[in-house]
Amino acid sequence: MKKAIVIGGGFCGCVVTEMLSKKGFEVTVVEAGDCIGGGCRTFFYHGHPYTIGPRHILVDVDEMYTWEYMERFVEMRELQHHSLTYVSQDDRFYTYPIHMDDIQSMPDKDTIEAELDNRGDVSQSKDFEEYWVNSVGQTLYNKFVNTYSKKMWGVKNNKEIDDFGFSPKGVALKSGDKVSFEGSKVIGYPTNIEAFNPFFDACVQNATVIYNTPVQKIDVDKKRVLAGDQWLDADLIVSTISPDIVFDYCHGELRYIGRHFMKLILPCERVTPEPYYFLYYAGDEPYTRVVEYKLLTGYESPNTLLGIEIPTFDNKMYPYPVKADIAKAKKYLEMFPDGVHSLGRMGKYNYDNMHVVIRDCFKLMENI
Ligand SMILES: Cc1cc2nc3c(=O)[nH]c(=O)nc-3n(C[C@H](O)[C@H](O)[C@H](O)COP(=O)(O)OP(=O)(O)OC[C@H]3O[C@@H](n4cnc5c(N)ncnc54)[C@H](O)[C@@H]3O)c2cc1C
Repeated sequence: MKKAIVIGGGFCGCVVTEMLSKKGFEVTVVEAGDCIGGGCRTFFYHGHPYTIGPRHILVDVDEMYTWEYMERFVEMRELQHHSLTYVSQDDRFYTYPIHMDDIQSMPDKDTIEAELDNRGDVSQSKDFEEYWVNSVGQTLYNKFVNTYSKKMWGVKNNKEIDDFGFSPKGVALKSGDKVSFEGSKVIGYPTNIEAFNPFFDACVQNATVIYNTPVQKIDVDKKRVLAGDQWLDADLIVSTISPDIVFDYCHGELRYIGRHFMKLILPCERVTPEPYYFLYYAGDEPYTRVVEYKLLTGYESPNTLLGIEIPTFDNKMYPYPVKADIAKAKKYLEMFPDGVHSLGRMGKYNYDNMHVVIRDCFKLMENI
């Protein structure tokens, strides 16, 4: 039986383990923490289920096979994705992405409309700031994006962000349907209270999982991985950890920003008005986003749990959308030899969501 080692038992590590097991590999997963599922694992706080940030699945309509893949393991419920942004200078929540209808109720609507009439050429934008100012004008940029982006990425100047195609989530300024966030996507969450956890368990049921073992060393040429104090040999390795670790930081460290996470229970059934289930904070509040989990999880209680995300450099969650960092990651990714693959959000050094991870794992299987 051919042997595979999967490094990292997060969402990607679990999906790839399931697929490799089905292909007949004997799979060993080496996981730094004491559980599988990574950022998408559901934990419980006094009975309330939560994840670190929202972790709903958003599937492009032409990629429903990724949704169907999930449904083989857990029943999924379709959701509408809606979000609001708090703009402190107006003391108002507005829908996000910025909506043309909301502009009418803004105190500075005349200035905004004049700026919208005189927008620059978006296609000539050289950085994130220019992209936004050219898309929506200076005033809307200042309200919704300027400070938010600086705290999201821990930067002093948004001009540092020069790989920004994803930033406005494809839509800078919306009109028409007011609340739907991602028009061409199907959005959902597992119906069971443990969300994706049963899926993770099913993925590794035929594999060996080594917990509490952060991998620091991989010999990519000999295809072996140092797990604790023992070298494990394999015919195939899939790494989902940051590629700079794999090559001992030979091109320098890759930058990430992470999140501190605070939980807050409030004595009421719901705080955010339906259909919203998370709120962005665009001003100089220390947090970027507050999630109210009940609408996602379906949990019933007289109280409600909020999860508050505060940017930090203490852990690694978001790779940087900066060309220099992406170029450095590319150098690392080019060093992977045949039979050693780097996948997942850190593995690819890319802002990948869950459906992209599933897509990538399917693609990898085509060549194995
Ligand atoms: C705050 C936040 C919110 C998100 N919300 C959504 C969302 O709503 N919808 C969506 O589709 N996507 C969302 N994502 C993205 C989604 O979580 C990722 O696509 C997915 O988790 C990627 O899976 P992964 O296995 O690559 O990473 P992870 O799930 O993060 O797993 C990485 C695993 O590797 C382990 N590990 C790390 N270092 C080592 C090491 N040295 N040795 C061994 N193991 C190691 C970790 O312990 C972890 O288990 C969100 C991401 C973040 C950060």
